[in-house]
Amino acid sequence: MMIPTVAQTVSSSLTLESIKKLKFAQKSEFLPTLNRRIDEFFKTAKRQKRDCPQFYFKVIILLFSLITTYILLVFFAQTWWQALALSIVLGLIMDGIGFNLQHDGSHNACSNIPWINKLMGMSLDLIGFSSYYWKIGHNVLHHNYINITGYDQDFEFGIFARKTPFQQWHPYHRWQHYYLWFLYGLYTIEWSLLRDFNNFFDRKLDHLDYPRPKGVELVIFVLGKVLFLTLAFAIPLQFHPFWNVLFCYVMTVFTMGLVMNFVFLLGHEVEKAAFLIPSQTTGIIEKEWAVHKVESTVNCSFNPFLNWFCGGLNYHIEHHLFPTICHVNYAAMSPIVKKTCEEFGIKYQVNPSFWHGVLSHYLWLRRLGKQP
Ligand SMILES: [Zn+2]
Repeated sequence: MMIPTVAQTVSSSLTLESIKKLKFAQKSEFLPTLNRRIDEFFKTAKRQKRDCPQFYFKVIILLFSLITTYILLVFFAQTWWQALALSIVLGLIMDGIGFNLQHDGSHNACSNIPWINKLMGMSLDLIGFSSYYWKIGHNVLHHNYINITGYDQDFEFGIFARKTPFQQWHPYHRWQHYYLWFLYGLYTIEWSLLRDFNNFFDRKLDHLDYPRPKGVELVIFVLGKVLFLTLAFAIPLQFHPFWNVLFCYVMTVFTMGLVMNFVFLLGHEVEKAAFLIPSQTTGIIEKEWAVHKVESTVNCSFNPFLNWFCGGLNYHIEHHLFPTICHVNYAAMSPIVKKTCEEFGIKYQVNPSFWHGVLSHYLWLRRLGKQP
């Protein structure tokens, strides 16, 4: 895609209210046609959109692995290398919980029963992050305004990175394709220990003002933080010295952050994805909303295990078009989505493997790091 001039650089000083006023170009027959075909597919294949047995099987495996690994780490690890290995495994299982249980839960995609979705979404609080703030940042801002600079907060990495062509460039960004990998791990530590609290007390999330959680949401926020801090620090400190506990915490969350960023950024922060800003004349996004979702997203072919572990997030186009359908269905839905996109002349793009996706992200960062 074209790299814009400096004059087109966008600052991210928007409010939540102004963000919600952004309009897209008029709708075509694309989404109604696709919705119809997907509904027909579920009817003829006698599949369920939610409450799928494969999903609940995952829930059992991942929760069992989480509890077992935690117990081994806190109560049985004897040497530093056992603690390190178990911390890395724990970080990966936390990723699995996030990709599968929490992500589907927050989109109401697990079940037709609301409390099951709520419970799955709350698994994020268990692993250290607020499900309340995630829902605003992910469901509202990312899903509605994908790759739109200043609107999609997934691209806000402060002064450290230039991740869209419309963000301001700094000279040190010419090295961002080297140092950002390390920051991806650190970012999750900051998110877990500082950002949720900062958002709560400052009422700001990524430059935006947000309503504080109230009622049940406030109870979940407070209890979630108490539970996480108890599991991550209070219990381990009864049995191990402070520095050992801190080491295991950092390794766990660093691993989790690195892998989580890899998987999420392969869907959007790659060379083939489209990046837009509102038109300077009309003030709207000159693309239909559903078409922009497809063209700003890139799928990635994963092997069956990675596909299972990453909660179908490699079928990222299907996820953005049908976020309320359980991810175990995405692979089967994808030929219909691809065919319909082709019929309507919409780019349906796929990176051929996980490493192609990682390389594409590296090249994209390197390209944006050059002086515009
Ligand atoms: Zn999502």
